[in-house]
Amino acid sequence: MRSTVAPDNREWSLDDFEIGRPLGRGKFGRVYLARERKSKYVVALKIVFKQQIEKYRIHHQLRREMEIQSGLRHPNILRLYGWFHDDDRIFLILEYAQGGELYKELQKYGHLTERQAATYIASLAQALAYCHEKHVIHRDIKPENLLLDHEGRLKIADFGWSVQSKFKRHTMCGTLDYLAPEMVEKKAHDHAVDNWTLGVLCYEFLYGVPPFEAESQSDTFKRIMKVDLNFPDQPDVSSSTKDLICQLLVKDSSKRLSLQKIMEHPWIVTNANPMGSCKSG
Ligand code: AMP
Repeated sequence: MRSTVAPDNREWSLDDFEIGRPLGRGKFGRVYLARERKSKYVVALKIVFKQQIEKYRIHHQLRREMEIQSGLRHPNILRLYGWFHDDDRIFLILEYAQGGELYKELQKYGHLTERQAATYIASLAQALAYCHEKHVIHRDIKPENLLLDHEGRLKIADFGWSVQSKFKRHTMCGTLDYLAPEMVEKKAHDHAVDNWTLGVLCYEFLYGVPPFEAESQSDTFKRIMKVDLNFPDQPDVSSSTKDLICQLLVKDSSKRLSLQKIMEHPWIVTNANPMGSCKSG
């Protein structure tokens, strides 16, 4: 795969960047804060070792992630500005998300406020509407794949499991708790799997745990298939929120609320910050 080019038409190289502190470690590589020497533009540099790519046979997945993500331009989707490689490593030049993982926010506070949850769900619905228009289904939306920028704006990162297809897909992938029934059953699925996941996320944002969590994988499967949905008494969540969740966690994928209707739902309209920013604390 060829490297992408810098503004002066040269291929990027590690010499173009000053490397700063580590930002995190993922399954396949490390991420560092970095600054492009000429423009002083701050980015996140993700380093993936070629050996790891070969070991886990993720060549196709990474290539797909890079091709899809570099073509997307949306305020709630993390930008991939470019990439380059040396003998041992591939470097991804990513937008820096100063706020870090949304997951950590959820862990720190146990659950989010309705205002935060509504703002994030609205941002996700907008970003996914943009993706679906381009025939990109994400399929792996979960708190660990969501980052926040310096203003608390949500950014979808990690397109490793996404596909660009106009046709129904059959592969089962993604994380168990967030899987739609048609994926659990390995049936054909389409963009409506992302709408289901928004229902799961909305629940998790407000209650701190995903709705179909169980002791074992097979029990989670069963709960998903039955749409075994319960709303605990605590924390106290408005009936309008529950209405939105119930309209997304619908077994028949064609009957799930559309992304457009999510954005128009009274709970979103009342609670979401239209600017998309959401500082906690
Ligand atoms: P990943 O390999 O993509 O799972 O990233 C590992 C960790 O690095 C994440 O969990 C984040 O905490 C951090 N990270 C990844 N990408 C960025 C980014 N663009 N901006 C800030 N932190 C990031």
